[in-house]
Amino acid sequence: MVRDGALHAYITRHKDFLGDALVECPQCSKKAWVKTPGYPQEDWEVYEDTVSFSCFHCGKAQRLKDITKTTIMYNSHGKAITSRVLRGGNSMTDPFFGYRLWLNIECLEGNIWAYNPEHLRFLQQFIAATHRKRQVTQDDDVFNNSIGSRLPRWMTAAKNRGHVLKCIARLMDR
Ligand SMILES: [Zn+2]
Repeated sequence: MVRDGALHAYITRHKDFLGDALVECPQCSKKAWVKTPGYPQEDWEVYEDTVSFSCFHCGKAQRLKDITKTTIMYNSHGKAITSRVLRGGNSMTDPFFGYRLWLNIECLEGNIWAYNPEHLRFLQQFIAATHRKRQVTQDDDVFNNSIGSRLPRWMTAAKNRGHVLKCIARLMDR
């Protein structure tokens, strides 16, 4: 399905665009990629082998399984129980490594961010649309987490449209 921000904002979540994410390399601060098999997967173990980071500028490369998991508790024998903790949709980072998203800019009352150019284009279409369609979904999780429901008020207010679109245009040139 080709997603159109003017039509599908209430049935599309940020995480539906993951996909591959553009991030800022933690070593050289240039543009780099986090490759993922899409999100969410039923079996989280899939991420360990398939999610990777690579920077073509400095050559830094990592796989998710190379990163130490987070200790979430200790069992009665004092053994650490670890788990992969993924960062949520408002962290302005990729969910796996936690690297700052490349497409991320301060604008008015907060930040506009996107995982990749396709995601950014979708946001642009939604903001630019003067008549935003509210497609109905029976799936509460999808609706409650949809981009249409989740974007902050300052981003969607008609009076801010021009300013927000300018911020998005600047991001598109990054
Ligand atoms: Zn680098």
